[in-house]
Amino acid sequence: MRALWVGVALSACASAEPRSDAVGGADAAACELTGEARVVLDEGDPHAPGARRLVVWDLADDPVLWSTARPQSATLDRFIAAARERVGDISAEALLGRVAATLESPREVALNQRLLAERARMVVPMRCFDALFIARQIERMDMISTPTEVLVFVLVSHEGAQLRLVEYTVNQPGIGRVGPPMAEVERAIEAGYRLRAVFHNHNFFFGEDGSWRGGSVAPSAPDAELLVSQHASLGLGESWISNGFSTSLIPLTTPWLRADPDH
Ligand SMILES: [Zn+2]
Repeated sequence: MRALWVGVALSACASAEPRSDAVGGADAAACELTGEARVVLDEGDPHAPGARRLVVWDLADDPVLWSTARPQSATLDRFIAAARERVGDISAEALLGRVAATLESPREVALNQRLLAERARMVVPMRCFDALFIARQIERMDMISTPTEVLVFVLVSHEGAQLRLVEYTVNQPGIGRVGPPMAEVERAIEAGYRLRAVFHNHNFFFGEDGSWRGGSVAPSAPDAELLVSQHASLGLGESWISNGFSTSLIPLTTPWLRADPDH
């Protein structure tokens, strides 16, 4: 696999990047991705369905990432305004309850109800980190008309000062197989990094008639299964899921993530 080191300002889609090309050196409190980005895979037209991208980021663990600071992204701002207008009550409470009431799978209903009950502890307003990666994905594909997913594995260096982020997307509603990023994750773990969390976004799906579904920040049943398995095999610590408004932060030791919590 050919790896290419590039500065973070290099984007496959310069026209969709409204902010300046500054790499580092900007206001320390600004919500932006600094450091270095290694593009491992960049396949297909970035604005077309099915295109894939795998980027490995090395950056300092800056507290601003975990704050509610917003990146300067007109694309993200437009998405948030459009989604809010269509959805109305965008609170995690309303969305988890709504989804729990409409799903058919008892397992998925339970996952939403459990998170609803524990939302005070496990759901926070969208953080800078979440917004940055959702913004990067929206710059590839319009999430209102064509929802797509981005996945970011968050690794922390031995001394905790450095982050390695393995960002992977396939321009489609669900990423499917996660083989390509796993080689990078395993390499980082071998180099002494700890796998702190995995982030992904959950979409709203808007119909042309004004109807919509989705938007829950609870793990789906397949999510929960994969997360629990990666907790066991790779020491994955937490699941982070954001819908562009709220983010769930769920420790993977949480019993109700298991299909059968008694085992
Ligand atoms: Zn999911």
